[in-house]
Amino acid sequence: MSAEFAVVRSERPVGEDARASILAAPGFGRYFTDHMTSATWTADDGWTGHRVGPLEPFRLHPSAAVLHYAQEIFEGLKAYRHGDGSVWLFRPDANARRFARSARRLALPVLPEEDFVAGVTALVRTDEPWVPAPAGEESLYLRPFMFASEAFLGVRPAARVEYAVIASPAGPYFASGVTGVTLWVSTTYSRAAEGGTGAAKCGGNYAGSLVAQREAAEHGCDQVLYLDSAGKGNLEESGTMNLFLVTSDGRLVTPELGTILEGVTRDSLMALADQHGLTAVERSVGVGELRAGIADGTFVEAFAAGTAAVVTPITGFKGEDSGGGSYALTVGEGTPGRKTLQLREHVLDIQYGRAGDAHGWLHRV
Ligand code: PMP
Repeated sequence: MSAEFAVVRSERPVGEDARASILAAPGFGRYFTDHMTSATWTADDGWTGHRVGPLEPFRLHPSAAVLHYAQEIFEGLKAYRHGDGSVWLFRPDANARRFARSARRLALPVLPEEDFVAGVTALVRTDEPWVPAPAGEESLYLRPFMFASEAFLGVRPAARVEYAVIASPAGPYFASGVTGVTLWVSTTYSRAAEGGTGAAKCGGNYAGSLVAQREAAEHGCDQVLYLDSAGKGNLEESGTMNLFLVTSDGRLVTPELGTILEGVTRDSLMALADQHGLTAVERSVGVGELRAGIADGTFVEAFAAGTAAVVTPITGFKGEDSGGGSYALTVGEGTPGRKTLQLREHVLDIQYGRAGDAHGWLHRV
């Protein structure tokens, strides 16, 4: 049995016309729905106050632990409207499990997985009119998060923690057709170390990624691609997406888990691979192997995978040699790969109810 999320409706919801104009061009992360889910945990009482209420600011004491020591985690998933008007979540149980793993790593209390799903579902039901109609790849992006709100300046796990979910309508990621990106292979910054927090979805990981992303932009690249921090030269992931390579002999290669985030999209693509004539392989790939494999035609396609864009084709890599020289690689023809686009369509077809849900990934709201 999950906790009951009592609904207290906003007295000042966004008007119907204003909402319609937002939904016509929502962009990403700019507009928020009328409500939010929340609950509070204390060391004395555990989880209490589960509810869906009006979206409102938090009142935090300036000493709140999250503001100093970043004891915070979050998730990202979407609600999709199908052709018949019904609304569905994609694998919310997988996000719930990852949220629990992140909580353990950050010494935060674990929210029971059924309460995670119930709290997300209750918000989407309450703000159902905010789920865009299925014209293209629109969705309602959901952001569950948890942070240390205790007013105390000592470095220890907080005794008071807030949980919340907010929702934001999202337009199609590729508004004018799916295009490829170029990744900057950073040898200046790494994202995660063994024993560190790389596998957790915690805010601090993203704070540390901002300068690396800026470095990528300065080199004319769209995103950064991290290498392992031990100097082995193994590819890890980009700032918000997992990496995949397609080989000429039908393998779908992705770096193994450890210091990377276990993406829900990553897992889904590996499960669908064989339907596209591909064998999913989790293994480390060195930057040397990447360069040689692109040059000799072993790696024929590359893409990045994550909730926001599902699959983003990678058409190039750039980076610097240890000797100070630079390299630029073009993947295949420099255009999105065939398997890449097939896999992308397959996941979208499942999410929007156009394909069979053989794995039972859809959760009706
Ligand atoms: N890696 C990182 C660092 C991410 O932030 C994300 C986005 N959550 C992903 C990979 C992809 O994960 P998912 O497929 O669950 O969105």
